[in-house]
Amino acid sequence: MPVLVMKFGGTSVATLDRIRRAAKRVGVEVAKGYDVIVIVSAMSGETNKLVGYVEETSPLFDAREYDAVVSSGENVTAGLMALTLQEMDVPARSWQGWQVPVKTTNAHANARIEEIPTDNITAKFDEGMKVAVVAGFQGISEEGRITTLGRGGSDTTAVAFAAAFGAERCDIYTDVDGVYTTDPRICEKARKLDRIAFEEMLELASLGAKVLQTRSVELAMRYKVKLRVLSSFEEQSDEAGTLVCDEEDIMESNVVAGVAHSRDEAKMTLVSVADRPGIASAIFTPLADAGVNVDMIVQNISDEGRTDMTFSCPTNQVARAEQAMEAAKEAGDINFHSIIADESVCKVSVVGIGMRSQSGVAAKMFRVLANEGINIKVITTSEIKISVLVERKYMELAVQALHDAFDLDKVA
Ligand code: ASP
Ligand code: MG
Repeated sequence: MPVLVMKFGGTSVATLDRIRRAAKRVGVEVAKGYDVIVIVSAMSGETNKLVGYVEETSPLFDAREYDAVVSSGENVTAGLMALTLQEMDVPARSWQGWQVPVKTTNAHANARIEEIPTDNITAKFDEGMKVAVVAGFQGISEEGRITTLGRGGSDTTAVAFAAAFGAERCDIYTDVDGVYTTDPRICEKARKLDRIAFEEMLELASLGAKVLQTRSVELAMRYKVKLRVLSSFEEQSDEAGTLVCDEEDIMESNVVAGVAHSRDEAKMTLVSVADRPGIASAIFTPLADAGVNVDMIVQNISDEGRTDMTFSCPTNQVARAEQAMEAAKEAGDINFHSIIADESVCKVSVVGIGMRSQSGVAAKMFRVLANEGINIKVITTSEIKISVLVERKYMELAVQALHDAFDLDKVA
């Protein structure tokens, strides 16, 4: 039997009624002849609540126990989904991560899946079970302890199962009907894409589009899993939603596929550091050790052996970054005049594989921002992406202007 993976996010299993609705969707696919692996999230809000319990109990918590607690939300929905399917006369069984087993690294709260042996579930399919309901987000470490895969991790569970079982497709059911050219809450002209390339989706996910966990897109790209994002609240056809696929499977696309934004960025500048070999390493190693997620980096030209080093990071990591830099100065590893933290910036990016073959995209982006009177503070580019830091108050305006200028409301 061909295998289909169907993943239901938190809002799609938020109530018993919604679980019933989701189960009906599963029943439709079973009737088509699929063996179905259903991956469930916790009921929406549940994981946040569990994280809150942990933080209140123990601010510097032991990550093993964090995982023991926060993984439990998925256990509830897995069992309820299996029961609901059974009530509909669909032979179903639930599986927690360790039962499969979903083998992961020991990196608690942020573990990576290493292997998913298929024999246990396949044996049940051979006995006539039609649906394996698996608790997303969790696995078991080499040490035999429960792990979790990082927030949003059940997307990654779903793609990993699709890869392990050679599934025909991995359908991600969520509360939006697909991937949009930009955030519809910011830009009313945002358009749902029928298809998007893996690499574009990867950039959009890591730039702040929250529809899929970044890691899940990486896995789908590596194992060529056909990934579809669709709404569990609408009637579905086979063409519904957005297909994330190889660029060869996309006939036509705009040069720019989407505009992404990330609101809470900070721009940090170390003023007057010595311009010498090893200085970047001496700055960014302690930042990495302190767990600061540095994104953009710019080094100014030097003047008389001194230079300024600028980087960006999330606003909630500014204090940590400052601490790490002051400590490195104290230890004599680096020397700087002062640190300037600008916490009122945001990042706006345009993404598209068409940029590889078309020049002038950056120039056009800068012109559009200039015409709106928006000053650019930092720029970075990759082969298929251009990002700028601008003042946060201009975020909506920048997104809308770029969406217009690159004609994203129209199909290419
Ligand atoms: N329930 C987990 C979370 O909220 C995992 C997921 O839903 O993907 O992060
Ligand atoms: Mg999610």
